[in-house]
Amino acid sequence: MTDEQLKQYNDWKFRLSAYEMALGLIGIDKLTVAPPAGAAYRDERTAFLSGEHFSIYTDPANLELLKVLKEEVEDEDIRKEADTYYRDIMKIVSIPKAEYVAFQRATDASYDAWIEAKQTNEYKRFEPHLKSMIEWRRKFCSYRNSELSLYDQLLDNYEPGMTQEAYDVFFNRIRERLVPFIDRVSEADAIEDAFLFQSCDTVLQKKWTENVLLPYLRFDPDWGYQNETEHPFTSWTCENDCRTTTKYLENNVVSSIFSTIHETGHAWYEHNIDPKYDGTILSTGVSSGMHESQSRFCENYLGRSLPFWEANYPSLQKQFPKQFGSVSLLQFMNAVNASHRSLIRTEADELTYPIHILIRYEIEKGLFNGSISTEQLDRTWDEMYQKYLGVHASTASEGILQDVHWSDGSFGYFPTYALGSAFAAQFYSAMRRDIDVDEALRSNRYIDCIHWLKEHVQKYGARYSADEILRRATGESFNPDYYIDYLIDKYSRLYQL
Ligand code: ZN
Repeated sequence: MTDEQLKQYNDWKFRLSAYEMALGLIGIDKLTVAPPAGAAYRDERTAFLSGEHFSIYTDPANLELLKVLKEEVEDEDIRKEADTYYRDIMKIVSIPKAEYVAFQRATDASYDAWIEAKQTNEYKRFEPHLKSMIEWRRKFCSYRNSELSLYDQLLDNYEPGMTQEAYDVFFNRIRERLVPFIDRVSEADAIEDAFLFQSCDTVLQKKWTENVLLPYLRFDPDWGYQNETEHPFTSWTCENDCRTTTKYLENNVVSSIFSTIHETGHAWYEHNIDPKYDGTILSTGVSSGMHESQSRFCENYLGRSLPFWEANYPSLQKQFPKQFGSVSLLQFMNAVNASHRSLIRTEADELTYPIHILIRYEIEKGLFNGSISTEQLDRTWDEMYQKYLGVHASTASEGILQDVHWSDGSFGYFPTYALGSAFAAQFYSAMRRDIDVDEALRSNRYIDCIHWLKEHVQKYGARYSADEILRRATGESFNPDYYIDYLIDKYSRLYQL
C-alpha cells in the first residue's frame, strides 16, 4: 500500500462521510420540522444526493483499493474497516444507479402514502406502496448473487450473521415459554394503573424532562439535542452530534419519560464509540440488535427499576402533586411495569413486547416466502393479534399501519428489537456482577451504568461482531434464557404468581 493509495482511500472516506452527514441531516429535518408542502421538491433532490453517494460508495477504483487494504495492511483496525466496507458495498454494487435512485424516490412516496393512509385509516391507500417496497427488496437481493435465502439477506442487513434459522430458535423459545406465561399473568389480579393516565400538562412534562430527567441521564447539550416528533427516534452525524426526539402525551405522562430514556440510550451508544473510528464505517453501532440492546437496557432494565424511581419519583410528585401526591412509590412502580395485552407495539410492556415482534416476524417471513400477500394483510394482522394477544384493532392505524418500518422497505428490522431486549438481559446480568447497579441509580450515578456499557460494548462501535462483544462483555455467546428468565422472574414477583 503506497502513501498515494492511502491518501486516495482517506479522501474517499471523507467525501463519503460528508454526503452521509448531509443526507442524515436532511432525514432528521424531514421527520421533525420540514413543512409537508415542500416534500416533493426536497425528495427529488434527496434522491439525487443519494445517487451521488451511491456512485462514490461503489466506485470501482476504490473497490480495488479495499481489496488490497483488507488483505495486505498490517494494522488490524484498518483491515477490519476495509473488510466491513467491502462486504457492505458488495451487497449493493450490482444495482444499476438509475434503479437505486428510483428506489429512493419510491421510498419517499411510500412514506408519504403511509402517513396519509394512517391519518385516514385506509390500509388500501398504502397497500400498493407496500407491495412495491417488497418488489424492490426482492429485485435488489437478486443482484447480490448471494447464497443466502431472500429473507436471510434482509435479516443480515440489520443483524450481520443472523439467519431465519437462528431467529426461529429464538422466537420458538419465546413462544413456548412466554405465551403460556402471559396467559397466567392476564388471569392474575390486575395492577391498578389508571392514575398514570390522568391529564398532565405537556408544558410541565417537558419542563420536568428538561430540568430533572435529562440531567439525571447526563444527556449533555454539548453533544446531544432533543426534539419532538410523532414517532420518537434517534439519529446522529458523529459521536458529538446525536439527536433524539420524544413525544409528550397529555394523558400518559410516562410515555415521553420512557421514550426519552430509550432514545438517549441510543445516543449514548453513538457518543461513546472510540473517536479513533470517526468518519469510518466502524464508527456506529455494530448491528440494529446491539443498538436496541443499549436503548432497551436504559429504558427497561434501568428506567423501570425501583432504585431509578427512588431517585426520581419525589420530583415527579412535586411537579404533579394533584395527580401523584397520594400515589406511593411502590404503586407507581407496579403501574409502570403492569402488563396488558394491547395493540400498540411502542406502548407495550416489557413482557408482551416480544410477542408484538413475533407477530411481525411471522408476517415478514410469510411475505417473502410467498405464503402471505399484501392484499388483506390488514386481516392477517388482525388474526395474528387475536391468536397471540387476544386483542382486535378497530382501526388500521392501531393495527397494520401503526409502524413506519415497512413504508421504507425496512424488512428484517423488526426481529432485532426482540433480539436487542434479549442481549440487554445478558448484559444486565454481567453488569450486576461488576457494579452495584441499584446503588448507582439510587444515588444519582446513572453514569456509572453508562460507563460500564461504554467499556464493555459501546466504545468498540462496529470493530467487533455482536457475538464477539457479547462474549467479551458477558463471557458467553448469545443465550436467550437470560431474557426469558428475567421476564418470568420479574412478572412472577409483580403478579405474585
Ligand atoms: Zn430503539
